[in-house]
Amino acid sequence: MSKVLYPGSFDPITKGHMNIVEQASDMFDEVIIAIMRNSAKKNSMFTVKERLEMISELYHRIDNVRVIAGEGATVDVAIKNECKAIIRGLRSLADFDSELALCHINREISDNRVNTICFFADQKYQFVSSSIVKELYYIDKDITPYVDPLIKEKMMEKRIDFR
Ligand code: ADP
Repeated sequence: MSKVLYPGSFDPITKGHMNIVEQASDMFDEVIIAIMRNSAKKNSMFTVKERLEMISELYHRIDNVRVIAGEGATVDVAIKNECKAIIRGLRSLADFDSELALCHINREISDNRVNTICFFADQKYQFVSSSIVKELYYIDKDITPYVDPLIKEKMMEKRIDFR
């Protein structure tokens, strides 16, 4: 069985991320979305638990997509879940540089047990990122084109929380 791990912050998951999941789930038997804590991104909008719940709800009807919360090193999460590769999405050259570095580090620290496979972002979502979605949301602009309706609803509930 070919299983791959899709790690990320997903704060929140965007249609760009969802497009990568779609591309990968067409190709592999199982895609495991791993919500990882990113120490460089301090102010998260959703807790890991909230993200786990909403992304699980989003994919509850899709048989070969599973969602987990990952702790520690991504390669260890991949090995523990019997994934031979990590998948990542590429939007631009800037993404390429950082993903290339990550790929090499992950090979090294996993003794070549975990490789990385990159998928190209759909043109429509090439400029979409979780941070741009949050920016638009904070300045009251429509985020409908960039996130699933369920995620928009959860973001709107947050607005009620902080008002
Ligand atoms: P991280 O904190 O690990 O960068 P993100 O949630 O920001 O987590 O992104 C996870 C992965 O999804 C990364 O490989 C990123 O390049 C990719 N990604 C993010 N947005 C898009 C998009 N719009 N289209 C394709 N891939 C994307």
